[in-house]
Amino acid sequence: MTEAEWLTLNAGLMLRYVERTCNPSVRKLRLLAAAYARFLETQPEYADSKPVAHLGEEVAEGRRTLEELWDQRERGWGYEGDWAIANLVLAGDRIGSLIRNHLSGCRYRNEDTVAKEVAAQRHCAAFRPCLLCILGNPFRPAVFDPAWRTSDVLALTRGIYDDRAFDRMPILADALQDAGCADEDVLNHCRDRNAPHARGCWVVDCILDKG
Ligand SMILES: [Zn+2]
Repeated sequence: MTEAEWLTLNAGLMLRYVERTCNPSVRKLRLLAAAYARFLETQPEYADSKPVAHLGEEVAEGRRTLEELWDQRERGWGYEGDWAIANLVLAGDRIGSLIRNHLSGCRYRNEDTVAKEVAAQRHCAAFRPCLLCILGNPFRPAVFDPAWRTSDVLALTRGIYDDRAFDRMPILADALQDAGCADEDVLNHCRDRNAPHARGCWVVDCILDKG
């Protein structure tokens, strides 16, 4: 497959290719699932769901275990919330296939409502930029010079990550340039105001050396 062909795929097939060729970490997949769950929570179809996406991030970052979330679900939040979002958070080893099934609309195939199929396709298209933010482009693997990790860059990046303050990404681009970075993929990603950055963003992860 070429880069141009990969870029024409829907988000589910993009993820399948990345899984086969790049072996993304469980952390990355969990953050992708959390970002997708967070996105779904903004959609009208999920307006009544209980917000649980943030719990997926906590599992991805090792601050909570899946067992704790299962216990929590037993106490009620999963039943009140939407199962689709709750399951993304609780998927365990099935996380990759569950995200792909969602993104490909497979979840809806046994339900004969055209509206749900249309919604799945809309979600898939809208979430694609976030998938690119987290997984990056497998045809352009990041080459990150450790010299770019100046104290300014590191402090700024940690703040962005901890506060989820992705509106500061253009400032990070300036700091990286001051540190000698001229990589257009890195700088353009930071300055892309349409990029819906999330925890797991490939540039932020490169700077913080997170896998
Ligand atoms: Zn990003």
